[in-house]
Amino acid sequence: MAQILAPSTQWQMRITKSSANASPISSKTWSSLLFKQNKKGAPTSSSKFRVLAIKSENGTVNRLENLLNLDTTPFTDKIIAEYIWVGGTGIDVRSKSRTIPKPVEHPSELPKWNYDGSSTGQAPGEDSEVILYPQAIFKDPFRGGNHILVICDTYTPAGEPIPTNKRHRAAQVFSDPKVIAEVPWFGIEQEYTLLQTNVNWPLGWPVGGYPGPQGPYYCAAGADKSYGRDISDAHYKACIYAGINISGTNGEVMPGQWEFQVGPSVGIDAGDHIWCARYILERITEQAGVVLSLDPKPIQGDWNGAGCHTNYSTKSMREDGGYEVIKKAILNLSLRHRDHISAYGEGNERRLTGKHETADINTFSWGVANRGCSIRVGRDTEAKGKGYLEDRRPASNMDPYVVTSLLAETTLLWEPTLEAEALAAQKLALKV
Ligand code: ADP
Ligand code: MN
Ligand code: MN
Ligand code: MN
Repeated sequence: MAQILAPSTQWQMRITKSSANASPISSKTWSSLLFKQNKKGAPTSSSKFRVLAIKSENGTVNRLENLLNLDTTPFTDKIIAEYIWVGGTGIDVRSKSRTIPKPVEHPSELPKWNYDGSSTGQAPGEDSEVILYPQAIFKDPFRGGNHILVICDTYTPAGEPIPTNKRHRAAQVFSDPKVIAEVPWFGIEQEYTLLQTNVNWPLGWPVGGYPGPQGPYYCAAGADKSYGRDISDAHYKACIYAGINISGTNGEVMPGQWEFQVGPSVGIDAGDHIWCARYILERITEQAGVVLSLDPKPIQGDWNGAGCHTNYSTKSMREDGGYEVIKKAILNLSLRHRDHISAYGEGNERRLTGKHETADINTFSWGVANRGCSIRVGRDTEAKGKGYLEDRRPASNMDPYVVTSLLAETTLLWEPTLEAEALAAQKLALKV
């Protein structure tokens, strides 16, 4: 992108006393700057113009890039930490930044912090303080250097987790000795849709119209089939840089829809990594001027919805004889179908219709290699007699802390009655 060197009236300041009032900087600040300059006898530019910044055709301010890319490490130990938390809707990510005296390697080295919970729908105005507890650290791909992203969870000043803090309960489940012993792995497939700004319509789609029917878009290449690859790819590299356990990406069945996978990750890490990856995606789409949607069914009709398939295994499932353990887990899952569905994301009933590679929301089903089931077992797992299962029910806007911990709870900590177990085994043709 070429820099525009010609003076542009929009971004220039005429350094004369008479025009000081026209400055976007308050006139007071501006005149004090002028005062210092004059005192030092700073020469005024011959053109009497001083360029503060130059705006290019597409709206980016090129000179800011130099500052954004400044490497501060040779000059100071100080780093910037971006504290990130889940907001009041349970799906919005919020963040703010602070200076930390020197680089850190573990969240325990970071101070707790606070924010105004009344502005995020998380506290009443008269008692608005919410406390942030740093829980996981990633490298900041936007600021570079030793700067960090910090995934936090949220507490009252008295130290109680606030209602939208789903991480706290999940961390309890994952610190249960029975769960720790089974080293639960999660591989999460986060699907998302890119929308054009202002029109609430997918990227690449004609505004007010539709592209050709689904078929050519999944994993496709080509200007008429793939929309938004740069965003997916920028996100992929940013995640790898950050230290997120991202395992792949692909273009989805609905044009403008993409997926990235995180995992296998152990226990609470899966949730931390997905939330950080979502935050990075929000930042990248913000830069690209594209809107990120995690709605499970952004476009009604014959268009695939967006899910968050959660692949899951325990140590016993991964070892010889694991297929029996997987079948027992499926049995438990069938008996708690309703509990799981109600924890698997808002609006999921619009997606789980039984069409478009989903199972009906009201019916639990499982099958080998069947993408129309609630739970799918891969051919590989059946053939090897060990492996993992895929829970296809979670929606794109699910909370990974909730989904991962509920899977561990239902399969490792919860036990049905013998009677319920026998009935379900018969119904699902599952011998355990
Ligand atoms: P799909 O075929 O359903 O599209 P993907 O390849 O998109 O599946 O995602 C599969 C995910 O499952 C990956 O994130 C992968 O790391 C993860 N995975 C692989 N093996 C296991 C396992 N044993 N336990 C849990 N997750 C696993
Ligand atoms: Mn996938
Ligand atoms: Mn997918
Ligand atoms: Mn899948």
